[in-house]
Amino acid sequence: MAVSRRQFLKLAAGAGLCAGAGLSPQVARARPPVPRLPEAVGILYDATLCIGCKACMSACKEFNGLPPEHTDPRAIWDDPLDLSAKTVNIVKLYTHGTGLAKDREQDGYSYIRRFCMHCVDPACTSACPVGALHKDPRTGVVKYNPDVCIGCRYCQIACPYNIPKFQWDSPFPRIVKCQMCDHLQARGSYPACCRFCPTGASLFGEVRELLKEARRRLALKEGEPTWFPLRRVDSGSHTFRSAPAYLPHIYGEKDGGGAQVLMLANVPFTKLGLPVLGEDSIASHSETVYHALYKGMLLPYLVLSGLVYLVYRHTSKKDLP
Ligand code: SF4
Ligand code: SF4
Ligand code: SF4
Repeated sequence: MAVSRRQFLKLAAGAGLCAGAGLSPQVARARPPVPRLPEAVGILYDATLCIGCKACMSACKEFNGLPPEHTDPRAIWDDPLDLSAKTVNIVKLYTHGTGLAKDREQDGYSYIRRFCMHCVDPACTSACPVGALHKDPRTGVVKYNPDVCIGCRYCQIACPYNIPKFQWDSPFPRIVKCQMCDHLQARGSYPACCRFCPTGASLFGEVRELLKEARRRLALKEGEPTWFPLRRVDSGSHTFRSAPAYLPHIYGEKDGGGAQVLMLANVPFTKLGLPVLGEDSIASHSETVYHALYKGMLLPYLVLSGLVYLVYRHTSKKDLP
């Protein structure tokens, strides 16, 4: 498997920290898991209900003041290929072989939404040195405060989903990511992507209710007549159809320590571009390493040793007394 520059940097940083602390990644013990907040809100995305209409993308841009972008200069519509500082929600496509059968791994296709997972124990908030990213203590939504951000982009390196983006073309750049339409929630409304999804593929609600709904779907027999809530899990509006086939995995229930965005699909999540994460959060391990490094002032000692070594390497003999 090819390793991207970004993955290499993450691995190198992790290995370097562990080696510096005298720890191996296997023996670095995670701190206890962070539990879900009781009133946490989130989104259940069901790829089997998604028709790839991208209404969620347009609504996301409209309600978050984000401009369209042209990846192909000949395009006459918004055509981002990936998340960017102008696109915080994207619908991607998996295809295989003939690509004819919806939600099939072989000779089939599947849609997949990518946006911030609003992790239960986020790596981005843990890595941010100034608290510019923080978790709302009630809803658990991971929010960004541009007023304190120093632009170090540690959050970008830390996020296992490669979500935060940086406004490279702005004189006052910010980090950009989905904030679960917190401005709409503050007005008693809910995320635009769920409001405008015509099929119920994107569903807003309390995470505990979304988990119940996801488990109900996984218990259905393929082809069984059933109903699917629209827009909000408690909206009372439904569509009726036969149950699709599902893989028995609620992505985000436990992956990476859990997330407030949950996903269902019938194509393996790795094929849909989601990372394989253990049940511990990255933050629980990295904080263990940081604490080990700072214990006994080991990190300043390592940094100083590194600087001395670099100065020695780059000093020519004639500069020496
Ligand atoms: S997906 Fe990334 S940016 Fe979003 S909360 Fe998790 S770590 Fe932070
Ligand atoms: S919750 Fe709001 S910001 Fe996040 S993807 Fe949906 S519409 Fe976009
Ligand atoms: S609006 Fe709903 S059905 Fe359309 S692409 Fe988005 S999630 Fe899929």
